[in-house]
Amino acid sequence: MRVIGLHADVLVATSRIWQTNCTIVRAERTRSGGDTGPGTGECFVIDSPVLPDELSLLPAVLEQAGFACSGLLATHADWDHLLGRLAFSGAALGVAETTAARLTAEPGAAARGLRAFDDEHYLDRPAPLSLGQLQALPVPGHCEIGDGELELHSADGHTADGMAIWIPRARVLVCGDYVSPVEVPMISEGGSRDGYLATLRRLEPLIDGAAYVVPGHGEVLEGARAAAILREDVNYLAKLPDAELPIARRGERQRAIHAANVQRVRARA
Ligand SMILES: [Zn+2]
Repeated sequence: MRVIGLHADVLVATSRIWQTNCTIVRAERTRSGGDTGPGTGECFVIDSPVLPDELSLLPAVLEQAGFACSGLLATHADWDHLLGRLAFSGAALGVAETTAARLTAEPGAAARGLRAFDDEHYLDRPAPLSLGQLQALPVPGHCEIGDGELELHSADGHTADGMAIWIPRARVLVCGDYVSPVEVPMISEGGSRDGYLATLRRLEPLIDGAAYVVPGHGEVLEGARAAAILREDVNYLAKLPDAELPIARRGERQRAIHAANVQRVRARA
């Protein structure tokens, strides 16, 4: 697992599996008298790494940075983003209302997805995944953190649910499974090309103002590079089913995602 700092209050841990990103964001709360100090703020862990050793290391990563987890957030309901509770077992999980609806409609789907992955790769976990207490957040909307707030923007189209999170103080966008340097746009079950394109249009002005963009998968991007990937992705989606894959994303796995996209778009036409 790679951990980098984007800002005094923002860390990103990248999993060895699918380069899945976990963003850790903190904000102090100003005490009466105007001073701030450790332990007076809040810290949220957004999405999660995947492997058991990475999850067991995560509390130490926060501790070393002087952060204390006060809650979990997830960009969407795909199981590989929902594993924060395996690192912070008591924490509540905040998700978009659309994600809460999906998790409620498919109880156990995340735990089953994780079990299938672990079976395939012979991985042991100390405990099964339980999502615990869910907090459904209105999106678009805001989520308070310390004496600041995070902006929540709708981000559906990859799946039927999801949110992107804008961290104003650091000008960091955590966008979920969009604008990835390693994965072509994936229209999963419940997702749609129109929804995906609408989300990219919503993300565009945020990316234009961003210092960094944290995609669901792949390295952290500077704003200008993310904007270039967004343009490639709009172009790819607009041309489906006849689209060509972007040059940097043409491996076997990407071609399989593309084939599934083509099928889904044809089935809807
Ligand atoms: Zn994902």
